[in-house]
Amino acid sequence: MKVLVTGGAGFIGSTLADLLVDSGHQVVVVDDLSSGKRDQVPSAANFYHMDVESRWLDRVIEREQPDAVAHLAAQISVSRSVREPLFDARVNVIASIGLLAACQGHGVKRFVFASTGGAIYGDADIIPTPEDYPAAPVSPYGASKLSFEHYLHVYREVHGLSTVAMRFANVYGPRQDPHGEAGVVAIFSRAMLNGQPAVITGDGAQTRDYVYVADVAAAVASALKSERTGLYNVGTEIETDVNQLHAQIAAAAGVRAPAEHGPARPGEQRRSCVATDHIRQDFGWAPRVSLAEGIPLTVDYFRQQRAAD
Ligand code: NAD
Repeated sequence: MKVLVTGGAGFIGSTLADLLVDSGHQVVVVDDLSSGKRDQVPSAANFYHMDVESRWLDRVIEREQPDAVAHLAAQISVSRSVREPLFDARVNVIASIGLLAACQGHGVKRFVFASTGGAIYGDADIIPTPEDYPAAPVSPYGASKLSFEHYLHVYREVHGLSTVAMRFANVYGPRQDPHGEAGVVAIFSRAMLNGQPAVITGDGAQTRDYVYVADVAAAVASALKSERTGLYNVGTEIETDVNQLHAQIAAAAGVRAPAEHGPARPGEQRRSCVATDHIRQDFGWAPRVSLAEGIPLTVDYFRQQRAAD
């Protein structure tokens, strides 16, 4: 199968591109390198340094004729989406519709979209939260991801394009940006390895569902091969609070100093954890890497990065 991965130079996209290449698929990557890195794109992939807003994207689809598209390129910052909601919508909705239209126009059969669990469900009162829980995004980022899910439905109903949205929980692992606003495992790992304080915001009792990046790539890869449509959560159904996470990263990084707490983030979500019955049933997917395994793998990656710098 030939797969076009948008955002394939990024954290999750490049892990997916590697997995697809290793499984014998042809891979095409489109990425503007705004946060992704060229050296993360597998050498076997055909790489286009291109913004998904570009009018040339249609030509790439026409020329490459992919069987399937995994759409991971996005404006991913919640705070930037609050500051620049138009920019967020331009990338996450308008450019993404352009990509859908190009796929429909050039006979792409399958379209898999990287959506979000946490930002769409908000502070849900059912944990783990199922896909049919009422969506209530409280950021433009959550709203733009949810809007685009509706376009997937439209293109499926009107044009017969086989589409699926994967709502990721909190993804962590090697290659995550440790300078971002999110990605607490990467941020804490880097800080601790550099001997800097890894400050916990508020009481640290806020929980998330941390899913390892290789498991997420495997979930997207199985969705690319399937014909199932609709919405699928991708997570572990396990809630972990920031205090536990800090302790596990400290143990892996060999840090003994007690955790420091800073001011709470106003409005920060208290709990987030997604139900995964659907993906387990329909794709036969289940997470394989526990947090106890994934944290040392991630800390080791940042240790090696540090040594290479
Ligand atoms: P990332 O920043 O590492 O990856 C995004 C990639 O898209 C980068 O390589 C970036 O250069 C590229 N990109 C951004 N804007 C682009 C544009 N206009 N044109 C072309 N390329 C562009 O982030 P990630 O964590 O790997 O996220 C991948 C996807 O997964 C995103 O759609 C994100 O919303 C979604 N997601 C991530 C998480 C998470 O926990 N990391 C959770 C839910 C959903």
